[in-house]
Amino acid sequence: MSEVVIPLAHGTFGEELGWQERALCAQTDPEAFFPEKGGSTREAKKVCRACEVRAECLEYALQHDERFGIWGGLSERERRKLKRQAV
Ligand code: SF4
Repeated sequence: MSEVVIPLAHGTFGEELGWQERALCAQTDPEAFFPEKGGSTREAKKVCRACEVRAECLEYALQHDERFGIWGGLSERERRKLKRQAV
């Protein structure tokens, strides 16, 4: 059975995660943050640029090794690159 993980920042909020209450993507279409392979990430990134918790979101994604979707304005591939640079 494949497990589908819906990132918390994209709609459903955990009580302990204060920054996610201010997540701008929660007010938009969550699907834009999970484009089909090869799909555009432009709209999602645009929302992220205006999001006040972008830094927290990106840090969360990096810490939790989130594989899918746009987090903190970065795609999966961009986050992998950032991680490699950080090592
Ligand atoms: S940075 Fe982007 S993905 Fe993260 S909470 Fe803000 S809008 Fe959502």
